Amino acid sequence: MISRAIVTGGAGFIGSHVVDSLIADGAAVTVIDDLSSGLAERVAPEATLEQISITDADAVAAVVDSVRPEAIFHLAAQASVVVSTNDPAFDCMVNVQGTLNLLEASRTRGVPIAFTSTGGALYGNDAPIPTPETRIPAPLAPYGASKWAGEAYINTWAAAHGIPHAICRLGNVYGPRQSPHGEAGVVAIFSERIHTGQTPKMFGNGAPTRDYIHVADVVAALRAALGHRGTFNVATGVETSVRELWDILADESGTELEPELAPLRPGELERSCMDTRLAADELGFTAAVAVDEGLRETYRALIAGFASGSAR
Ligand code: NAD
Repeated sequence: MISRAIVTGGAGFIGSHVVDSLIADGAAVTVIDDLSSGLAERVAPEATLEQISITDADAVAAVVDSVRPEAIFHLAAQASVVVSTNDPAFDCMVNVQGTLNLLEASRTRGVPIAFTSTGGALYGNDAPIPTPETRIPAPLAPYGASKWAGEAYINTWAAAHGIPHAICRLGNVYGPRQSPHGEAGVVAIFSERIHTGQTPKMFGNGAPTRDYIHVADVVAALRAALGHRGTFNVATGVETSVRELWDILADESGTELEPELAPLRPGELERSCMDTRLAADELGFTAAVAVDEGLRETYRALIAGFASGSAR
């Protein structure tokens, strides 16, 4: 039972669900978010929102000192591959320096951090499928490099200061509140196109595969990982092609749209699927939401959100 927690990136897609889950369990939650891609309306009204950047070490330390959290869920990040390629220094500042600021602020109080890293952007194209955590990363873009560097700091600080920080390498996360305006988030993008009757583009001619995991499962995994030192894939271990994903959404919606086929974009992976045995063995975590059921439920929730204009 956690009584006080900080969630960085708590105004974002995944972070806002972490906040809701902690609040439902009676925790007092403080969100650190600069609202660069997040939305204040996504943050549960019971939580306190501190609109600061994780790159501001003094501001981060002041919040950690005043909240005295028992747990930090660190999700704030520069999460765009395109931005990371155009401005790698900015990406590094947020994802590496920002993570170091959290580690330093939590060090004197011994607060464990659960850090969200990525599987897809780390493992590269030559990794075995499903990919185990022991595979040496080979990122294709600065975003993967900065997440990997963040992991290195997390591991080093855990070892040097004896704090059980956890690293969760997430699969492709989907679920309610995902924005259709990002470069990733294909479930939200397809759902919005269906909703507005616009033909979507299907890159890689629908063949690329991903390991899609529902946001509710990610929240459960982050909470299970808190306090366990190590690096864990957080995924379903199920490989789903973009074409299969589209077919489920098309079936659920009844759309007659047919996606426009396009080649794979530079730097995009052909296949991604992660080995989930370590998280099962060490954290007791297995994804509970089946992809077919999760995609259908998400489609309905996203459409309701588009129609109402509500961010929550
Ligand atoms: P998101 O963009 O919805 O959320 C990120 C949040 O961080 C936003 O609210 C944003 O305003 C905030 N933020 C960005 N820079 C900040 C800064 N300098 N200071 C304070 N706040 C800042 O993204 P998301 O999909 O919810 O991703 C959450 C985390 O999970 C990220 O660390 C991301 O790298 C990781 N991740 C996501 C996926 C996915 O499929 N969505 C996959 C792998 C890893």
